[in-house]
Amino acid sequence: MKTAECILTGGLWEGVSHRDWSDWTWQSANRIHTIPQLSKILGKATGNLGDYVHVIRNYPFCVTPYYLSLINLANENDPLRMQCIPDAREIHFSMGGVPDPLEEERDMPVAGLIHRYPDRCLTIVTYTCMTYCRHCNRKRMWKSERPPINRRYLQTMIDYIGEKKTIREVIVSGGDPLTMEEGHLEWFLKSLRSIPHVEVLRVGSRAPVVLPMRVTRDLCSMLRKYRPLWFNTQFNHPHEITRESARACEMLLDAGIPVSNQSVLLRRINDEYETMRELLYGLQRISVRPYYLFQCDPVEGTDHFRTDIATGLKMMEKLWGNMPGLCMPQYVLDAPGRRGKVPLFPSSPMSCMAVGAYGSFQQTH
Ligand SMILES: *Cc1c(COP(=O)(O)O)cnc(C)c1O
Ligand code: SF4
Repeated sequence: MKTAECILTGGLWEGVSHRDWSDWTWQSANRIHTIPQLSKILGKATGNLGDYVHVIRNYPFCVTPYYLSLINLANENDPLRMQCIPDAREIHFSMGGVPDPLEEERDMPVAGLIHRYPDRCLTIVTYTCMTYCRHCNRKRMWKSERPPINRRYLQTMIDYIGEKKTIREVIVSGGDPLTMEEGHLEWFLKSLRSIPHVEVLRVGSRAPVVLPMRVTRDLCSMLRKYRPLWFNTQFNHPHEITRESARACEMLLDAGIPVSNQSVLLRRINDEYETMRELLYGLQRISVRPYYLFQCDPVEGTDHFRTDIATGLKMMEKLWGNMPGLCMPQYVLDAPGRRGKVPLFPSSPMSCMAVGAYGSFQQTH
């Protein structure tokens, strides 16, 4: 496992104390988000700065010192670097992607609440993240002016959920809900918990990966009050599994909160069998259950991340043949046009043979 190194290229954090480094408020206050900072970090490796200006104007840039410290910045193809450092292809090579292919905005009965399946809904409680993932499927939201998210806005969602008796699970998402002020988040969870037909809460956050210090004792004791509460995070590459991220997941698990993982299949980041195997083994080692592997949505500004489905299926088939079932995520496509998530299965010679053998076994016994 890698540990965070405080001395980085450009010496940005030389001399910072371990105490500061491990404090999420320090990490948050020292996030990197400007062009001069970026060019200082990248040093000689900086491409055309003008490109970055354009990209960032469209899609803001922000990364925690912690996540940055896991990157070998000299390597342009570093799998973590590609996930957080802006790339000119986000605006130059956009071929045919649309801002909102899943038409989430059309499934919003009230602002910020997506109700696509009768039994569960997803709430967008903030637009802010600790680190902006360049492959984000909601990157449209960073761009446009949005109404501020205040208690009244959240109360409208709570009222809607209270009236819809079919909703038994509420997903608290964003943005990253753990960027919210803790008291505010607790008020929201508590309000949802007080609705009798809401059986289960789910929080989606990338904090364990990009700002693991955010998972504090206080946060865990707050969250545990609202169980059954499931925590979903997003590890995409084995380099993200560090002592710090393992500790964050362990604290949640200790608080009785199951932690699952949703990865996005990303070209040249995790679309090779060996890399994905290492990631899945790593997750099992830290007791995080792989849940979904998402086909990267055709979202504007993410073309260069997309792996084709055939490649994804081939990789899945090899994984199924070699890995324990507990390590296996479901490969899913969030189908454009509001159709929802569809599991993708390899229709392999292997499974045909297995089914054939099963049939002849039944006939002879
Ligand atoms: C993904 C998603 C959910 C949750 O679906 P699960 O299959 O239960 O993980 C709910 N609502 C929306 C709009 C979603 O996109
Ligand atoms: S943490 Fe989630 S919402 Fe935020 S940028 Fe990354 S993928 Fe998007």
